[in-house]
Amino acid sequence: MEFRLKANIKCSGSVSEVVSAPEITEFMRDCNEGLLKKGAPPGCGAEIVWWNVAGEKIELKLVSDRFVRAHDALLRLKNELGKFLGKHRIGIRGMEIEDYEIAMEWEAELRIKKLPFVKEIKQEEGRLKLFLDVDEFALEKRIPDRILRLLEDKKEAARWKGKKEHWELLFESNKKSFYFDKDPTEELIKRGWIKHAAGRGQWIYGPQSTKIFRTFERVLLDEVCKPLGYEEMIFPKFVTWDVWKRSGHAKGIFPEAYYVCTPKTRDPEFWEDVMDYYKVTNEIPVEMIMGKIENVGGMCYAQCPPFWVFPQGETIPDEILPIKVFDRSGTSYRYESGGLHGIERLDEFHRVEIVWIGKKEQVIEQSKQLQAKYRRIFDELLDIEWREAWVTPWFMAQEGKTGLAELKEVGTIDYEAVLPYNGKWLEFQNVSVNGDKYPKGFNVKLQSGAELWSGCSGVGLERWAAVFLAQKGFDTDKWPAKFRSAVGELPEVFRFL
Ligand code: ATP
Ligand code: ZN
Ligand code: MG
Repeated sequence: MEFRLKANIKCSGSVSEVVSAPEITEFMRDCNEGLLKKGAPPGCGAEIVWWNVAGEKIELKLVSDRFVRAHDALLRLKNELGKFLGKHRIGIRGMEIEDYEIAMEWEAELRIKKLPFVKEIKQEEGRLKLFLDVDEFALEKRIPDRILRLLEDKKEAARWKGKKEHWELLFESNKKSFYFDKDPTEELIKRGWIKHAAGRGQWIYGPQSTKIFRTFERVLLDEVCKPLGYEEMIFPKFVTWDVWKRSGHAKGIFPEAYYVCTPKTRDPEFWEDVMDYYKVTNEIPVEMIMGKIENVGGMCYAQCPPFWVFPQGETIPDEILPIKVFDRSGTSYRYESGGLHGIERLDEFHRVEIVWIGKKEQVIEQSKQLQAKYRRIFDELLDIEWREAWVTPWFMAQEGKTGLAELKEVGTIDYEAVLPYNGKWLEFQNVSVNGDKYPKGFNVKLQSGAELWSGCSGVGLERWAAVFLAQKGFDTDKWPAKFRSAVGELPEVFRFL
């Protein structure tokens, strides 16, 4: 990797008038021999290859390898120069980055067309050359380092592309009897138990399907949450960017988010043209509205991230661990690109999210206890055929969690059930051990200083319904007795002509 930087340092007085040429030469030579080599292996580091003093301006050309990157060298140099010129009562006003080129070896197949803070990209003969558009502020914010990390991420993502996430069967239930072989969504519609809502991937659940959902929820509370000591909380359903920056979702949520916007001002006059346009045309002037609102975040996507603002920045006394809570207070939203299907894959869905925090061993132990409780529900109450698989998404591997031991402890168990009508397996819930990701991201500490871990489990109510109804059908006599009595009578209302 090679870095070539041309910068001008602007000073408060004329350097050429006050500092003698030999003195400057000596300063530059000293920097080349010491400061710009510090921390690099012998023979490596950065080098001032040319300089010129013109009145209040010092022009510099720096070349470096990856050990002391040229922008780091420049920041070091600015500091040192400040001290040196200070002796002559000259201050540094600022820096101007005229050119910054970074060249590296690069696989030809992976084309890079656009990067932030890069005005031009040349890619040829196994090399990638970036021409950066950065100022002093961007250097201080380590933008060049972040661009290089981004390139590493892209390389890694390309390596994983097409490969499915790691999938390993952990458990398979017994074979069960199926009493239905059709698509349950179609049957639900036919019976008038659900109806497609006005929005994309959004349904209205009638009294019958709602009663089934609420029964699932009650089963979950009675069989899992209460016996394991989970307390109910209410998590926000509108999520600000700060939360998604801390949870890591800001790295990739953009194509799937439902965005939330607020008016730039509530002044009715500001909105008068929109109101008038609507009154005259009966059409919503969406473009006009877009110019008058600003984005402030998005709708709940993963359900647990906004919870973390509760313990954010706090210190937890060891003796209250593990903390165990759950939320069932609202919907989640995802713009699902392909495969929106019935109640199986939705843009608006209902989920119970279970979250636990503790020391590493406690978090792993909680995950095991949840797994045991879930198995009992699926086996005895719902009597479904399902399997459990250990999955590790590629982004976890990318975050450096590639050590085998770590991959066995941190990761997700997907619960999947077969849908008899199409033979496909559908994930209907999961259990994740997230390691120290959330406590770290939200700066939550433990009083003893030990490492804090957390886990979460998302139970999709529509997915439970899709799986149960696909396997057990709509003849309630065929439903497992315990579940039938838990549901009770299904209401008969909304009969349309
Ligand atoms: P899938 O692979 O099916 O898209 P996912 O891996 O995106 O699922 P998670 O992000 O792990 O799902 O979410 C946890 C749970 O939330 C899922 O197990 C499922 O029950 C539910 N869920 C996720 N996306 C949807 C959706 N689009 N419609 C209905 N339920 C969903
Ligand atoms: Zn979660
Ligand atoms: Mg998904």
